[in-house]
Amino acid sequence: MARDYYGILGVPKNASDQEIKRAYRKLARELHPDVNPSEDAQHKFSEVTTAYEVLSDPQKRKIVDLGGDPLDNGARAGGAGDPFGGFGGLGDIMDAFFGAATGGGRGRGPRSRVQPGSDALIRISLSLEECATGVDKEITVDTAVLCDQCHGNGTAPGGTVKTCDTCGGQGEIQSVQRSFLGQVVTSRPCPVCRGFGEVITDPCRQCGGDGRVRARRSVTAKIPAGVGDGMRIRLSAQGEVGPGGGPAGDLYIEVDEEPHEVFVREGHDLHCNLRIPMTAAALGATVPLETLIDGEYELSVDPGTQAGTELVLAGMGMPRLRSSGRVDGRGDLHVHVDVTVPTKLDDAQRELLQQLAQLRGEESGMTSNGRHQGGLFSKLRAKSHK
Ligand SMILES: [Zn+2]
Ligand SMILES: [Zn+2]
Repeated sequence: MARDYYGILGVPKNASDQEIKRAYRKLARELHPDVNPSEDAQHKFSEVTTAYEVLSDPQKRKIVDLGGDPLDNGARAGGAGDPFGGFGGLGDIMDAFFGAATGGGRGRGPRSRVQPGSDALIRISLSLEECATGVDKEITVDTAVLCDQCHGNGTAPGGTVKTCDTCGGQGEIQSVQRSFLGQVVTSRPCPVCRGFGEVITDPCRQCGGDGRVRARRSVTAKIPAGVGDGMRIRLSAQGEVGPGGGPAGDLYIEVDEEPHEVFVREGHDLHCNLRIPMTAAALGATVPLETLIDGEYELSVDPGTQAGTELVLAGMGMPRLRSSGRVDGRGDLHVHVDVTVPTKLDDAQRELLQQLAQLRGEESGMTSNGRHQGGLFSKLRAKSHK
């Protein structure tokens, strides 16, 4: 026979979800085992909870409305001996009433006086050369270090750490308040031991019982080749020592790459300008090029090289530093050629250039006005004709 779930909750058959919830809450407050420990109340609480579970589930409620019983297949929730079985346990019900704010600090216990330390960050300036080759840098860091008097335990010589009398070592103090659900226990950290559950009777003079002191020290950081602006290198366990002498955090070294006066970096590639005289550009030449880390390079410039030409020297850029910490090849070096036109000509030079102009039919100085074969004008023209 189908059970009268509406009757158990005391709501009409057309009750809204809100009305069902309200009716359930009202009954649950009266019948909750914390408030009413009688066996009869427990049984009723179980029934009410089951009814609520059925009627708050649209599919199950539909079965009830059609005259059936969704729990009739033997899966009746909240059977004997398991008063909360149909609901997923007491916690869910408490949550339904109070949200997450329930269970006030049950069984947290004292917190440890020894805590892991935090990470530290330090910035260092590196030249572009140092970024390219890698470097061992001596760095001065100012962090918490282990107290060398008490070695982290915080006690003066001969002193001890004893259990806090106020909280009995629990680290928290409980107070009991009455509410409609009966007694509610709330707890707060013990003010005497600050939640640690233990007190240092005679704290270390040097660290005041913290187990650590601030100190300046020198650290050598191995900077790998290929680092760049904003990259961080981690030195494990070189950060701040924790409270109570807890394990040190990590030290991060952030790279601040200084601008270079010749080379401009673009990812793994480098760029530089090279000025060559007009004659070298026309005749071709081998030009000595001072590179960043590869010494002098004999750069060959082809005859007829134009101003603005970009020569790419593969593999002469910055080392490619992978996230694994390994270097995987190098970027390229881009040489931007600039052609210098002589400004001060003596008579012999002027004569030579005039002869050259004559030989090339360039005396008028107007070879191909409006009929350039390349460069800016033809690009602009190609654009405007599209
Ligand atoms: Zn100390
Ligand atoms: Zn205490």
